[in-house]
Amino acid sequence: MADCVFCKIVAGEIPCTKVFEDGLCLAFLDIGPISPGHTLLIPKAHYETIHQMPADEAAHLARHIPSLAAAVQKAVRAEGINVLQNNGACSGQEVFHVHVHLIPRWPEDGLGFRWPAKQADPEVLKQQAEAITKHLKS
Ligand code: AMP
Ligand code: ZN
Repeated sequence: MADCVFCKIVAGEIPCTKVFEDGLCLAFLDIGPISPGHTLLIPKAHYETIHQMPADEAAHLARHIPSLAAAVQKAVRAEGINVLQNNGACSGQEVFHVHVHLIPRWPEDGLGFRWPAKQADPEVLKQQAEAITKHLKS
């Protein structure tokens, strides 16, 4: 993708601070870190969102998450880590090439999350689960 910043990183056209790569994926430090050690894991192939990824390529990407999360966390001596993956502008996605954020966390680090939990209606949950299951089958 000519205009994609992450494709340009994969192609070596713009630099990155690489931490890991294999034939299909690349991990590098985020240029605008939310916390020290903030790392991005991307597929080398261009997919805008997770929905477009073939399952085997998504699985390949995902299999690196546990070791990478552990390495990032240890490297910066964090006490926890958020694994985050945004799809669509309304979710906060700004770069439309699939990427997984690994964001080290500390108690009282001030990052926070807005998590406006609501009381669930069991009947509505049932309908939602049925709708999801139906779409999984189609
Ligand atoms: P998102 O909002 O989920 O699309 O996150 C995109 C992330 O990519 C942001 O955290 C940016 O700081 C990061 N980013 C954008 N350009 C670069 C770059 N050239 N090198 C490293 N990280 C980048
Ligand atoms: Zn791309």
